Amino acid sequence: MKLIGAFMRTRLHTKILVGLLAGIPVGLLLGPRAAAIEPLGQLFIRLITMIVVPLVFSSLFVGTASLGDIRKLGRVGVKTILYYLCTTAIAITIGLILGNIFKPGDNINESTRQSLLSSYQADAEARIELADQKPGVIETLTRIVPRNPIESLAEAHMLQIIFFALLFGIAVTLVPGQRGKPVIDFFDAVSEAMIQMVHIVMKFAPFGVLALIAAVVGKFGIDILLSLLKYTLIVLAGLLLHMTFIYSSAVRIFSGLSARKFFRGIQPAQLIAFSTSSSNATLPVTIECVEENLGVSEEISSFVLPLGATINMDGTALYQGVAAIFIAQVYGISLTLGDQFTIVLMATLASIGAAGVPGIGVITLAMVLQTIGVPLEGIALILGVDRIIDMCRTVVNITGDASAAVVVASSEGDLRKDRSPGEEKDLA
Ligand code: ASP
Repeated sequence: MKLIGAFMRTRLHTKILVGLLAGIPVGLLLGPRAAAIEPLGQLFIRLITMIVVPLVFSSLFVGTASLGDIRKLGRVGVKTILYYLCTTAIAITIGLILGNIFKPGDNINESTRQSLLSSYQADAEARIELADQKPGVIETLTRIVPRNPIESLAEAHMLQIIFFALLFGIAVTLVPGQRGKPVIDFFDAVSEAMIQMVHIVMKFAPFGVLALIAAVVGKFGIDILLSLLKYTLIVLAGLLLHMTFIYSSAVRIFSGLSARKFFRGIQPAQLIAFSTSSSNATLPVTIECVEENLGVSEEISSFVLPLGATINMDGTALYQGVAAIFIAQVYGISLTLGDQFTIVLMATLASIGAAGVPGIGVITLAMVLQTIGVPLEGIALILGVDRIIDMCRTVVNITGDASAAVVVASSEGDLRKDRSPGEEKDLA
């Protein structure tokens, strides 16, 4: 009883961490039967995903309307996209360098290769088919302009929602007199209410996280992890390197914020990203952490973060670099420098327009492999450990978005530095 009382009094992100850690023994204990509690986790994912569209639309609209400065908007847009492109290119390069040095595919013997290919063949084919249906780069770019904004909202097309909210926000400031103000006030209240909804939903987070982690652990075979251990470790090392070195340097150099404060502030979002494997679902929590704990203004965070959840996936890009090399090595194909440059380019482009949902990285990987002539069926080789890697790369993806928000906000004088470490606001 005392223990429960003490648990109830701890801070929310400690509770989420406890839920996450408790999920491991529960999953080990229940094994595949842990799938029975997965709906509890799915319920949590649905609850936070439910907030994404109204939150992004209302806060971005209000942010743009209150900014009322188109030039600043353009500047923020250019800085954000440049930051995203640079960090993504660095991430894939790290993945490729590690893949070339440590050669993850060299120690896979013929029997492991055959068993992996046959076990995951059907799954791989389904994903390749999805990759075939994905629009090309030009089409993705034209589709940013919605034909019907209501449809964009209903279907949660993030780039279209961003485009419409920005234009709507600019347009409302051009309405003469005070006539646009009620609209701004209305959406301001909607955005506030959505933030309150995040607080309510997050109370359920520790239980949702426990169920999600237990289900993953219960389903997971340790044998598959062992046969792909080298590949998995190389991806994880790369992700860790990118996160600790690149982001903390960027945040430190461009904003003066210490790495410790940055990582402490973003921790609740990282835990949710790890458990849900979805940058999109994590978005409301990322926005909350970046504004409340790191002091980024709403105008900046409401633009930079939703954009990042869709177009910036550094963790995914890094993993694609290692995975492409791994698959090529297993098939005995040597990739030229030109091929590797194509990987950098394609992985960067492929991430644009791919929503931050679980497993999307494998689908865009198929697009990357196609352009360098590596057999697509090779995807079957890595699917067994993909969920674990997805959890980790999603953490890097949202951390990258948060670092962009800090860097861009600081360059615009929109970063409140009056919070000292340890002063993070609890989300509950
Ligand atoms: N799950 C990742 C995300 O939501 C995308 C991926 O790599 O599959 O950011």
